[in-house]
Amino acid sequence: MVKTDVLVIGGGIAGTVAAWHLARAGAGVILAEAGELNAQASGTNAGSLHLQIPHPEFVGLGGGWARGFAPTLRLLQASLEMWSGIETELGQPLDVRRTGGIVVATTDAEMRAIAAKAAVEAAEGVETELLDRAALLAEAPYLTARAIGGGLCRAEGKANPLRATPAFAAAAVAAGATILTHAPVTGLQRDAAGFLARTPRGDIAAGRVVNAAGARAAAVAAMLGVRVELQGFPLQVTVTEPVAPLVPHLVYSAAGKLSLKQAPNGGLIIGGGWPARQRPEGGLVTDPASLTGNMATAAGVVPAVAGAQVVRSWTATVNGTADWRPVIGTAPGVPGFILALFPWMGFSAGPMTGRLAADLALDRPPAMDLRGISVLAG
Ligand SMILES: Cc1cc2nc3c(=O)[nH]c(=O)nc-3n(C[C@H](O)[C@H](O)[C@H](O)COP(=O)(O)OP(=O)(O)OC[C@H]3O[C@@H](n4cnc5c(N)ncnc54)[C@H](O)[C@@H]3O)c2cc1C
Repeated sequence: MVKTDVLVIGGGIAGTVAAWHLARAGAGVILAEAGELNAQASGTNAGSLHLQIPHPEFVGLGGGWARGFAPTLRLLQASLEMWSGIETELGQPLDVRRTGGIVVATTDAEMRAIAAKAAVEAAEGVETELLDRAALLAEAPYLTARAIGGGLCRAEGKANPLRATPAFAAAAVAAGATILTHAPVTGLQRDAAGFLARTPRGDIAAGRVVNAAGARAAAVAAMLGVRVELQGFPLQVTVTEPVAPLVPHLVYSAAGKLSLKQAPNGGLIIGGGWPARQRPEGGLVTDPASLTGNMATAAGVVPAVAGAQVVRSWTATVNGTADWRPVIGTAPGVPGFILALFPWMGFSAGPMTGRLAADLALDRPPAMDLRGISVLAG
């Protein structure tokens, strides 16, 4: 058996950032990852740095939901500020660009929804500029001539998911953390000294535990009798062949689910929450209907997409909650058991989610007030 101050469960962005901050503060840290680091959502996502309220959910779930969710924008905003400094702090290129995100409207009704959403965002200090057709096409001449306007949030951007979590993990190790891969936590119980975790690589005794298990976090919490309303949802993303520099922004559509951006190598990365299929025998497979729907939405906003060959689509499971609010804090009734769960947009929120988990595990004042944001903080 090994002993540590803090056991972090999960080697995605939330867990590696938490381990980095914990180790920097001088705590003993073991991070246990079931498989390989960065092999789940954190390494397979679309790399958008989101700040706006997601437009399809604003339309589908309504203004009441949006006002309840809106305080979470404060966490995203703080996390995006952290992203801006991370390449310098870690000394690693992570392809971070904050060149703005645009929701594109092609009808008056869509433009009215963008304006209503911008008003909710403004109440939380998030600025979304409303652009008329001329201003929109001056900002983004690659957009469809059918566009009548849009909402531009200049703070949004993108980063490279293949690079970010490995860089945080390396920084954590350099600061003294131990990372165990192929070490799924299969049992977790409380004892007099704190917690005892079982893994195939041996038992781990820890004073504190951070649950950063992403889409599997509810199963980990259930080991201690804690119920977490979070599930995994299968999604897919598509990338095209490299094309000449075309799209500097993160592009959304007010007509449907879309996120579109251009990677540094020129590939267009196209996603936005389109579902993949769960195979009955296990595993995920791309859904052709999602692929055609996603590409049609993309080409409807950026016509040049229609001329780019698709190279591949991939599938992955996202951690989702019904109300989109994060679950960050100490589990009710289990002191020392910290939940570090940011759903749907957890890549954008990763730097702040991990920082907050470390603060809570160290009994430090949290980097930000989570009231109204985390479901655990009221
Ligand atoms: C296709 C797709 C596209 C997305 N696009 C975006 C985007 O553009 N922008 C954005 O902000 N967000 C996006 N997301 C969401 C984002 O990727 C996730 O919210 C975020 O990565 C969650 O990070 P995490 O560290 O909590 O979880 P994960 O990255 O899933 O890491 C959790 C880790 O815990 C491990 N684990 C689970 N159970 C155990 C156990 N019992 N013992 C040990 N380890 C365990 C897993 O193996 C995994 O490695 C997308 C997600 C998907 C799937």
